[in-house]
Amino acid sequence: MSDPRRYVVIGGGLAGLASAVWLAEAGKQVTLLERRGRLGGRTHAMKADAAEDLPDNGQHVIASGYDHLFRYLTSVGTRQYVAFPHRATLRWPDGRKVAMHTKGWRALRTFTGAHPDSGVLDRIRAAIATTRLGWQCLNQPTDLADLTTEQWFDRVGMPAKAREAVWDWLALGVAAEPVQQESAKILADVLATGIRLGLTHRRPVTIGYPTTDLDTLYITGAQRVFERHGVEVRHRAVARRIHIVDGRVTGVALADGSIVPADAVVCAVPNSNVGGLLDELPEHAEIYAAADKLGYTPIVSTNLYLDRPLGTEAEFEALIGGTGVIDEVFDRQRMTGRGTERAWLYCLTTSGAYAQIHKSSDEIVAEQVELLRRYYPAMASANVVQAQVVRMPKATFSQVIGTHGLRPDQRTSVPTLVLAGDWTATDWSATMESAVQSAARAVDLLLALPSVP
Ligand SMILES: Cc1cc2nc3c(=O)[nH]c(=O)nc-3n(C[C@H](O)[C@H](O)[C@H](O)COP(=O)(O)OP(=O)(O)OC[C@H]3O[C@@H](n4cnc5c(N)ncnc54)[C@H](O)[C@@H]3O)c2cc1C
Repeated sequence: MSDPRRYVVIGGGLAGLASAVWLAEAGKQVTLLERRGRLGGRTHAMKADAAEDLPDNGQHVIASGYDHLFRYLTSVGTRQYVAFPHRATLRWPDGRKVAMHTKGWRALRTFTGAHPDSGVLDRIRAAIATTRLGWQCLNQPTDLADLTTEQWFDRVGMPAKAREAVWDWLALGVAAEPVQQESAKILADVLATGIRLGLTHRRPVTIGYPTTDLDTLYITGAQRVFERHGVEVRHRAVARRIHIVDGRVTGVALADGSIVPADAVVCAVPNSNVGGLLDELPEHAEIYAAADKLGYTPIVSTNLYLDRPLGTEAEFEALIGGTGVIDEVFDRQRMTGRGTERAWLYCLTTSGAYAQIHKSSDEIVAEQVELLRRYYPAMASANVVQAQVVRMPKATFSQVIGTHGLRPDQRTSVPTLVLAGDWTATDWSATMESAVQSAARAVDLLLALPSVP
């Protein structure tokens, strides 16, 4: 007998999209509520008029261990748009550069000796420290949640050159926080997940990227699934409160005063937006307090269009010593095969952008252009055709020391109400995989509900 329940998903980011897609695939009646006029949440494409282009709101990388994300891409038919390069480049301001291998045994060599000035002794020390680090990821010391990543690196004896070349940069990429404030537990948990997945899949976890824009990757395929299964998508539908009567969800109140009837709800909004929605859930105060304490970390992304190539050698390059202004340069020509008739597009990312987030776009671009000149000789004669600065003050929840154990489970005390979103408890940090993994768990909980008599 078909399920008469009405399933409502609140939030059209990756967690909400994946929840709606999988509930629809399971034959459920689904309504998706999104407060904005577009889907995608923190992952979406945006127009760049001067260059007649469709770049993203920020470059997103994808780890090969993102199993749930790949399941989502298979559901929406876009799995083919992810590529995994063999190498990236680490660059120093004086023009020195080193190939960073991302696959196979050569990747191990990168972790231990990527710095151009590393001598044999440095490499041996880095190899020993890396082994200790790996061991402690799997057998975590009890005080790891009380340490910053920097303190943990000191404890395992990670040499300064290995830190400069790879580890500080990697840690910033994992948690979007500088090592001086990032929780060591976050990095350890993500590395442990990577090691576990590497053993399961019998190949090391590596970093990849989308070969198309984020709308094509995540949204248009989902919209096809919605059309096929009759999912109702309501844009500009701002959910205010989930109504619960006698331990069961009955509906979702919207800001316009209307009520969307619901028998089951996936609440897939970020920690910054959950306030008010769960007021009728007995444990709401605890969840709100956790959402508050998790806080936010800023990311600044710039889509920089130049009138000539920058002289990159790989799809993505890390600027060592440039942290705080630009961490990574992504070459969209190499990544997506885009034409260069109008301009060359480089996506610049600054994670943990506490110093940049309040600056004007002009100041940010000027600072970035000056930095690029120190790393890329071709930048001396390049002109900026267009620059789009995307400031995300609440890019992700913060993963600083003191945040361990705060992320709420997808299950609540009301069986027909589940939570999803990158900030809920998963085995990844604040990532797209975390968002989609949380959706898989939330949907599993709803699909396990006893059938309606
Ligand atoms: C610049 C940037 C770069 C990043 N880079 C990477 C990367 O390289 N790799 C990676 O894995 N991750 C990266 N991330 C993180 C990743 O984008 C997020 O973790 C993920 O997209 C979060 O998805 P979500 O569905 O949990 O939340 P969101 O995408 O925020 O979706 C939540 C949705 O809920 C809607 N909403 C909120 N309140 C309401 C309401 N009351 N009613 C209705 N709708 C509501 C919002 O409008 C939004 O659409 C990056 C993030 C940013 C910002």
